[in-house]
Amino acid sequence: MGETRQDFYRLNNADGTQQAFHARAAAARDAVFGRRVFVRGVVEVSNYCRQNCHYCAMRRDNRQLARYRLAADELADLIIHHRPASMTDIDIQAGEDPVAVREVVLPLVRELHRHTDLGITLCLGTLTPPEYDELREAGGHYYVLKIETGEAQHYRFIEAPGTLAERVEAIRYLASTGWKVSSGLIVGLPGQTAEILTQSLQLLTTLPLAGGSVSPFVAGEQTPFVNAPNGCIEQTLNCVAWMRLAAPHWLIPAVSAMKLVSENGYVRAFQAGANLATINFTPRNVRADYPIYKRDRVIMDEERVLSAIEQAGCQPSRISVAEHLRNGISTAPVS
Ligand code: SF4
Repeated sequence: MGETRQDFYRLNNADGTQQAFHARAAAARDAVFGRRVFVRGVVEVSNYCRQNCHYCAMRRDNRQLARYRLAADELADLIIHHRPASMTDIDIQAGEDPVAVREVVLPLVRELHRHTDLGITLCLGTLTPPEYDELREAGGHYYVLKIETGEAQHYRFIEAPGTLAERVEAIRYLASTGWKVSSGLIVGLPGQTAEILTQSLQLLTTLPLAGGSVSPFVAGEQTPFVNAPNGCIEQTLNCVAWMRLAAPHWLIPAVSAMKLVSENGYVRAFQAGANLATINFTPRNVRADYPIYKRDRVIMDEERVLSAIEQAGCQPSRISVAEHLRNGISTAPVS
């Protein structure tokens, strides 16, 4: 890699070094994937959550949030019959809500597996091994389980679910049982130092992952961190580029929070090596109640996603993440 922490963390546009770093990362992506960007849709099926993460407005102590669970049959109809043509994969997300897993996600995954060739990604938090196994048997293949931070004490400070060791163990369990797994971190979390950020990136590279994500911290309303400053887009994009150079074969998303903290942050993520975009396909009537960042979140519809991909000089992939991963890429740790 060659980049020390100081090299990559503080790079900015002043002298062109950041641009060269990002271009090198984009070239590393191109060498593995070409200029293809995978396009998945996300449906946020439940905003109930038993966890209490300090950085998230869906935390259980937020009594001001109207909670919802969507119906599996309506979602199946929406996804099977009305999804955008560019969408090759579907990401089913929820707060950590075992009821939704049982009553919504499992029947939905079975229906989608039966009636479509969509790749099925799940982002449902830390569950039990039998729950992971059942979801896998139903047709899920890619599981997103973020560590958010890679330092155990900081992990406790932000009140992320369980312990960091348990989160890592869950990632290893998923990977050992046939799931392709993605993890990730948040840049700019309160209490995060440059050392913690570097440690977090390095921890990710030791895990059996097929993908990784970097999101800038966005201070959520109705959370203990409401008054903290947002994460820095330059540091976020530098971490994306670092991650791409460390793990050229990973799926690395551009995330809507990048656009929330900086108007061109989303497009620049592709120019720093990202290769995955997400169309928000959650029914409009509940979108505001899924405050992953804040209620006035940026909603990436198909038009915005395709336009960003084009602006970055890339093209949407015709094959799904699932198909790409079936072709046998390595998910061995990269360090
Ligand atoms: S980050 Fe996830 S687990 Fe934590 S409170 Fe939010 S939805 Fe729940």
